[in-house]
Parts: sequence; structure tokens; C-alpha cells
Amino acid sequence: GISKRFDLDDALLPWVKGRAVQAVDNVSFDLAPGETLGLVGESGCGKSTLGRLILRLIEPDEGEVTLAGEAVTGASRARLKALRRSMQIVFQNPFGSLNARMSVGEAITEPLRAFGVAGPRKRKEEARRLLSLVGLDPDHADRFPHEFSGGQRQRIAIARAIALEPPLVVCDEAVSALDVSVQAQVLNLLKDLKTRLGMAYLFISHDLAVVRHVSDRVAVMYLGSIVEIADADALFASPKHPYTVALLASVPAETPQERKERAPLEGQVPSPIDLPAGCRFAGRCPKVMPRCHTERPPLAEVAPGQRVACHLYEGAGGTAP
Ligand code: SF4
Ligand code: MG
Repeated sequence: GISKRFDLDDALLPWVKGRAVQAVDNVSFDLAPGETLGLVGESGCGKSTLGRLILRLIEPDEGEVTLAGEAVTGASRARLKALRRSMQIVFQNPFGSLNARMSVGEAITEPLRAFGVAGPRKRKEEARRLLSLVGLDPDHADRFPHEFSGGQRQRIAIARAIALEPPLVVCDEAVSALDVSVQAQVLNLLKDLKTRLGMAYLFISHDLAVVRHVSDRVAVMYLGSIVEIADADALFASPKHPYTVALLASVPAETPQERKERAPLEGQVPSPIDLPAGCRFAGRCPKVMPRCHTERPPLAEVAPGQRVACHLYEGAGGTAP
């Protein structure tokens, strides 16, 4: 599993000085070609850190990332640069990730230039093709980012991310800053591109409704660890971990079966600096048992394709007592 601690040596707050945050703790999963894995959890749970670790935008302390069998962790600088061609990231803020002085056509085809894939003339053609692909007017390639709306800029950021048709795209809150109607358009665009180009997405979001719309599988993170991972349908129809159940309570139910009683989340998220022994959800869990305070539950399969880290399911064959 992959892990990352951040040392707070340089922190200004005296009570955290010299301590460390375990942002990502021994997380492990696979992502198949053409698959979308949704990664959900409250802010600060480590999901963005995990996305950056996978692309090696930050270095993990432990653990391995492989892309199509090749190690990303441990790759040399030169090899990593080449690997970056195969993995791209789309951030939340499309304005911050676009150079204001670069035309959108240049911005979109910048990866083609950086990797020496295409000369100026071919890049102009590609800019037009990619703009059409993301539903924008190809004649607008010479315009600048400020001439586009937020939704259009996010389409531009996506066009750049897919310019080299990478097998893996990490989307970190990629639609979170957009209006709901524009969100739907961009999500449909991502789905459509996946169908056409066969890329895999790691789709990071705090918004379960959005994750539900795009994901084949969903992983739920709590304080640096995955507490449940399952097929999206199974997770939404039959959430097992008490934290997943609580998270789902904030999403409107889509079927009568889902409209069963759902307990709201209570209690405080523990500080990631002083993580409790045992289950990290114990302080907020409505089903907490004595052993939860001392024994950390492992992520174990409780139903086909559904893994849960909770003592309730140990040896229970998937049914909570
Ligand atoms: Fe709740 Fe215990 Fe399960 Fe943790 S292990 S989620 S505290 S029942
Ligand atoms: Mg984040």
C-alpha cells in the first residue's frame, strides 16, 4: 500500500510543530483500463494527496504505483517525464491551470509540443480537433482563457489533459467549481471520452452524487485510509461501512430501497495529527463496539467485489449483525 506523511517541522502553529500528519496510510487498489474509480471522502481525508502520489507529483514514503506494469515510483527523472505522457490530471480550478497569456489552442496542444509529438502546423489542426471533441468551437483556438466561461475553461483543461490520449486521467474535483447544469455537461463529456478513447479515470470528489454519475467502482476514504471499495451499484444499493452509510445519508435516495432510515453523521473528525488507535471512525460511529477502540479493522472482502474495513463484518459473510 501507498503511504505519505507530512512533517510539520516548518509549521507556524506551536502545537503541531515537529509532528506529522499521516495523509495517506497504506492505501492499495487497482484501476483497469477504461474504468472509472470514484474516490470520495470529506475534505482533508487524503484523496487529493493520493491523486498526486499516483502521478508522483509528490513522492510517497512507502508503496508502489505501477502503470501498465511499469513502476511509476522509482522511475528515473527522464523515465518519469516520459510516463507523464500516459497520466494527466485535471484540477478543480480551470483558470488557475491555464496560462492566461497562451491562446487556448496553444494551451491544449502544449503537451504535444512538450513531447515533440507534432510540429506547429499539426498542432493547429489538433487544437481544432480537440476543441470539437470537447464540444467547443474549433474557430476559437486563437482566443484566450478569459474569453471563455468557467465550464468552457474546464472543457479546455480536459482537452489538454486528453491531447495525448493518456490511459490514465486523474480528475481532482474537476467539476466542483461549476454550476450544476455545466457539471452535468462536463461529466457527460468525460463519460463520452472514456467510451471513445478507452481511458481510465481516478475521479476524486467530495460529492457523492457526482461520483455516482460517473463511476464504475467507488472507494470511500476516511482519514487517510480506504474504508470501503465496491462496484458503484453495490455501494449505493448496499453500503456496508457505517461511514459510507452516513455519507450516503447526505445524497438524495434514487430508489425506494435506498430510502431506508439513514443516520446522520455526528461527532468530530479526529485530528489527522493525533489519530486514535483502533478504528479511526470510532468517535463518530453509531455502531461502535469496545474492540473498535483498540483494534484497527483490516479492509476485507464482505461480498463479491466489496471490501470493507469494519469489525461488524468480520466473519459475518457480508451481513452486519
Ligand atoms: Fe464502527 Fe467499529 Fe466498524 Fe469502526 S470498526 S466503523 S467503530 S463498528
Ligand atoms: Mg482535495
